[in-house]
Amino acid sequence: MRLITNTNIIVDDFELAKDYKLDTFIHFLTHFHQDHWQGMTPLWNYGKIYCSKITKQFILNKFPKIERIVSLDMNHIYYLNLKTQDLTDRIENEFTIEVALFSANHIPGSTMFLFRGYMGTILHTGDFRYNKSMITQNPILFPQYQSIQIDELIFDNTYCDPMFNFPTADIVAQQMIKIIENNIKKRVLIAMGALGKEVIVMEICKYFKTKIIVIEEKYNQLIASSTENMNLFTTDRKGYFIEIIKRSHREQIISQYLEEAKENFICINTDFLMQSHRDPDGINYMVPYSLHSNYQEMRTFVNAIKPAILKKLVIPYENFAEYRRKVRINPVKGFQGYLKRLKTNGESGYSTLIRECTDFTKISKNYTKWMTETKFRGLMEQLGVQLEPDRKNRKRKVDQVMPKPTIKQCIRELEKQYIYSKKPEKVESLEDISNRLKATNNNQQITKFLKKPQQIEDVECKNDEEEIYNIIQEYLHFHDNDA
Ligand SMILES: [Zn+2]
Repeated sequence: MRLITNTNIIVDDFELAKDYKLDTFIHFLTHFHQDHWQGMTPLWNYGKIYCSKITKQFILNKFPKIERIVSLDMNHIYYLNLKTQDLTDRIENEFTIEVALFSANHIPGSTMFLFRGYMGTILHTGDFRYNKSMITQNPILFPQYQSIQIDELIFDNTYCDPMFNFPTADIVAQQMIKIIENNIKKRVLIAMGALGKEVIVMEICKYFKTKIIVIEEKYNQLIASSTENMNLFTTDRKGYFIEIIKRSHREQIISQYLEEAKENFICINTDFLMQSHRDPDGINYMVPYSLHSNYQEMRTFVNAIKPAILKKLVIPYENFAEYRRKVRINPVKGFQGYLKRLKTNGESGYSTLIRECTDFTKISKNYTKWMTETKFRGLMEQLGVQLEPDRKNRKRKVDQVMPKPTIKQCIRELEKQYIYSKKPEKVESLEDISNRLKATNNNQQITKFLKKPQQIEDVECKNDEEEIYNIIQEYLHFHDNDA
């Protein structure tokens, strides 16, 4: 989650806006991984959403009722009026800024965002896997291969440590081909997590002239992302030998295969980044494949940009709640903290990048001129952003445009997905689910429903209907996708 400094733009966060008046913020989504679109609900309508065409398809595939999503082309400069939240064809006033999208080479539709205007020049990479063309084929960001001056670079620091030296995708593809050749005539399961890694398997299938088996959910996602070569994918499990399985289903599927003494098989895991080619046990093989940049790639990119300020995108999970609580929307304190940090010499990969790949002396006046409390407050007033969040705003009924499902329907849906489903993942008991829900809300009603689903019809729940509905919706959407 990032508020773009001194604007009303939020990148990859759909939760914060719920504590503010409608249309306080303009939303940008870098890509459709769940930890980035978290907070979005089926009728989410807290502000306009800008993203790439493919990301828009993904959103609509999951939430067909969301309106006000604007898709933008890559490598094109757009003008965005921060007051009206609309695109315009020219700079209309002080609050019209330039926006451009560049491919982030992370998953289909993933982008970086460039924002340039009265507040300076800010580049948000989103999650990205570096490749050379980001520099050589980007005349907006690198005219004549020289980066434009970036005041603030918010970069994907997922593997920001020299110990992460995993190879490029082509090398990993070669490693996988070799593993499969050494296990010829065996079934090949390829365990992967989030959407985006299918590309590498396509290379392998072209090599072996076969199709890739995927589950229906993934097949539909691939169609939504306008994947080229869809003919390489199939949901038909017979007649083909390479199959993508969900990382979370891996253990279950493997033990199933072993128990049923099925045909010979191997399982290639793609997430072990520091253990390239660990000794195989005859079944499990590991290849170090990542959709994020390794440390050297990250360094090459940041060094080519030479920003004045370098900010991390990924906040460690354990610090996230604290970060959310503190940050609010005021960037002035953060800026002062960064100035202090420049004087110290930390030891982390991030500190090294700040020391070696940034140049604070190049910071623009446009950026620094807002960095006092008075200036900042005046600016936010002009943009119509209240400074303090107000939880009362959450009570409003934004999502009431269409008839809501009844509690009974919600519970049925919950049961369908988690109790009676034949998914090979660990099935939670009603009690587990009820305890989880209780952890977020102390509502006794929920416990009643979930413990005794057969009595649903008897329970009176008018007062809490809205609240329970929201919790369940949130719960369902939180759990039905890999991050
Ligand atoms: Zn991602």
